[in-house]
Amino acid sequence: MSIKLKSLLQTSPNGQEVTVRGWVRTFRANRFIALNDGSTLQNIQCVVDFESFDEALLKQITTGAALQIKGKYVESQGKGQSAEIQVEDIHLYGGADPETYPIQPKKHSFEFLREKAHLRVRTATFSAVMRIRAALSFAVHQFFREEGFHYIHTPIITGSDAEGAGEMFKVTTLDEKNIPTNENGKTDFTKDFFGKETHLTVSGQLEAETYAMGLGEVYTFGPTFRAENSNTTRHLAEFWMIEPEMAFFDLNDNMDLAEKFIKGVLKYILENCQEDLEFLDQRFASEEKTKPQIERSELGLLEKIKFVVENEFVRLSYTDAIEILRNSKPNKKKKFNYLIEEWGADLQSEHERYLVEKHFKKPVILFDYPAKIKAFYMRLNEDEKTVRAMDILFPGIGEIVGGSQREERLDVLKKRIAAMGIEEEELWWYLDLRKFGSAPHSGFGLGFERLVLFATGMGNIRDVIPFPRTPQNASF
Ligand code: ATP
Ligand code: MN
Repeated sequence: MSIKLKSLLQTSPNGQEVTVRGWVRTFRANRFIALNDGSTLQNIQCVVDFESFDEALLKQITTGAALQIKGKYVESQGKGQSAEIQVEDIHLYGGADPETYPIQPKKHSFEFLREKAHLRVRTATFSAVMRIRAALSFAVHQFFREEGFHYIHTPIITGSDAEGAGEMFKVTTLDEKNIPTNENGKTDFTKDFFGKETHLTVSGQLEAETYAMGLGEVYTFGPTFRAENSNTTRHLAEFWMIEPEMAFFDLNDNMDLAEKFIKGVLKYILENCQEDLEFLDQRFASEEKTKPQIERSELGLLEKIKFVVENEFVRLSYTDAIEILRNSKPNKKKKFNYLIEEWGADLQSEHERYLVEKHFKKPVILFDYPAKIKAFYMRLNEDEKTVRAMDILFPGIGEIVGGSQREERLDVLKKRIAAMGIEEEELWWYLDLRKFGSAPHSGFGLGFERLVLFATGMGNIRDVIPFPRTPQNASF
């Protein structure tokens, strides 16, 4: 049996026979193979006595080749590692022609690696990012289970177009060369697969609400899709969203849970992904050095994560935020692209970043937004102008969470639906929740990739998901 490097490197070397399998990172001086198997950031040095091996075999041991190595696990003679394998047997599974294998032991740009997304996980940076992504994903489930939540799976194909969170992708099996039309000349969706118009979901919230009103506390963690043409470093067309939904929670309970959740999962990786985080911390530091002084992050990656875990988030109403922004230097000096003049303005990411990065230098939870700029299902406040919404804003990321207390009063909800120009019939089942055993409830959505972006200190959301989907790009 072969042993994973992660376990091997934790055992003390005393000449025991071991078998390891992995991919060659480098082969130096016809003598030192650095092998990695993905279980850890560390490579194992395998020392080859080239006279004992076939020259033709050694020639094929190049960066990227897949090998099994058997040998003695001993204390290292050289510097740079404490243990190594004295190679006795090499099995080559598959070579990697150095003329054509694109991942060579040198610095590749992330843009280049995105075009080689099927091979980029064989670099130290991407393997570290993906191990942290996997650990965070586990931490999400662990957190919610410990809090008594039930994991539910909401549909990916949705028949309701009232989710309201963004542009949707159509799902259809109609023949594009021969679209059936009705008497108005419009597409006849009764002929389509589901007999109605369907889309890929932008959020599982509305369905999650129905389950919260029976299971109490539930969450979804699944793919969501947005057909918006936003080519930013924080938007994907396909991303994973975590959406808890809780019966009997008001907005304060909701904010408490979101803060506890974010701190909990970040604490998990601090405790379980130390090696990868330290590596990414160094990468982050050297990346920051290439930026002009004013754009540099004051804290290192590990410091940023610890800071979030250890400090209370600021809680600020939208109205108070507008006051701060209106009186801010960039607003007075007309440095914002969108100047803040009146109450009611939608906040742009430049405003969110000002609040988080310049004014408070802390994560900020903004709440009680104007009803006009928020979705129909958010609970209307007594002032009838604001709703019980909350967004969590993070340094370097902007919005990481969007949530609210939901409107549980049937009459108020109906008025909001009408005001937004949505057909009531579309939401008959959602309205039923307010007819039968309605109760206060709340929830939020957290974009998983934005969390991974923060936790890894990477600069582009395309680099924290295995195969990013963005406008004009669905390769692999
Ligand atoms: P933004 O203003 O940043 O586009 P949003 O207001 O559209 O976000 P919500 O609809 O509230 O976001 O979605 C909940 C969460 O999902 C956001 O807080 C964010 O973390 C994440 N999110 C939203 N859109 C995207 C996207 N296109 N790619 C990745 N994550 C996203
Ligand atoms: Mn958006």
